[in-house]
Amino acid sequence: MLFYRQKTVNNNKLPIASLTLSQLRAALVAAGQRPFVAKQIFEAVYARNVRSFDEMTNLSAALRRDLAARYSLRTLEVAGKFDSPDGSFKLALRLADGQSIESAFLATADHGTVCVSSQVGCAMGCLFCASGEKGLVRNLAAFEMVEQVLAARDHLPPGRRLSHVTFMGIGEPLANFDNLTRALDLIHTPEGLNIGARRLSISTCGTPQGIRRLADLGRQYHLAISLHAPNDALRRQLMPAAARTPIAEIMAAAEDYCRRTTRKIVFEYVLIRGLNDQPAHARELAALVGGFPSMVNLIPLNPVSACPNLEPSAPAAVERFRAALEKSGVEVCVRRRKGAEVDAACGQLRARLDADEDE
Ligand code: SAH
Repeated sequence: MLFYRQKTVNNNKLPIASLTLSQLRAALVAAGQRPFVAKQIFEAVYARNVRSFDEMTNLSAALRRDLAARYSLRTLEVAGKFDSPDGSFKLALRLADGQSIESAFLATADHGTVCVSSQVGCAMGCLFCASGEKGLVRNLAAFEMVEQVLAARDHLPPGRRLSHVTFMGIGEPLANFDNLTRALDLIHTPEGLNIGARRLSISTCGTPQGIRRLADLGRQYHLAISLHAPNDALRRQLMPAAARTPIAEIMAAAEDYCRRTTRKIVFEYVLIRGLNDQPAHARELAALVGGFPSMVNLIPLNPVSACPNLEPSAPAAVERFRAALEKSGVEVCVRRRKGAEVDAACGQLRARLDADEDE
């Protein structure tokens, strides 16, 4: 069957996470199995985190052998794990074709968020981001995104729970739209990882067409837009590829998303010393974001080796910026430097792994 050949990776086995429940059911029925086996496999993989067919003892030994010959439960290899004292950790993951990506688990008191990569590398080339240093290598398949969540769950510290998933790792998720939505479906569906749409977020540089397609899905996914500058000229300096779309068009798409999903939009704004952190920038930003329910998330720059000349804004400048927005009636928060110990800012770990390998 063409479908099998197209999707087969690694030892000619089909990744389970590349299939919806009905696709798995159809494949199993075509191979002479009873339909409910698909549900049993889904339940084992997504509800119980079972990592080998051998552990699916509710299936016959012969069936388990047969399944193990045809399907793989995990295609990502954990190449490294970096722990932070607060329970956060980062995984360096090797894909079947030898490429590497990374995922982070960010722990807070009452929930845990997995930060998932959507591409190998990134085409956006933002000045301050390690992900785009070597450009885009390829899109991730849906199963490679779903398996990042499974891998994070495999490594959860005791007492921690995985409650949220955010597409804020390496890559521009809306540039890989079809695979992104397939992954979101498997993460969201009750037969899959069963995580509510409101706990799933997508962070994007802001392609208006992608934002509108996301709204068309009719789900309440949370949308975060990486703005980082309050005008097109400055944005072009910081985010050359993303700034090809004027901010006004992004705002129009964001407003549309907000109206159709009734979800507040988050605007992310990395604060870089002397570049975009001045009072005039705060005023311009405040004028930009007032029109519909939204909030601004200020993120002091996480220094990356790619841009040694960029520095985070000083704490006093961050506070001044925050206060100016608040005074203008903008809802604003400052993101704590979560995961800084584990180099959780975008692409930093992959960059380091690749550098280690280059040496
Ligand atoms: N391409 C998507 C998702 C990946 S980036 C996007 O742009 O939203 C996820 C977030 O991390 C973005 O807001 C990005 O701007 C931010 N980020 C990247 N490098 C950073 C750094 N060095 N310090 C702080 N935040 C960074």
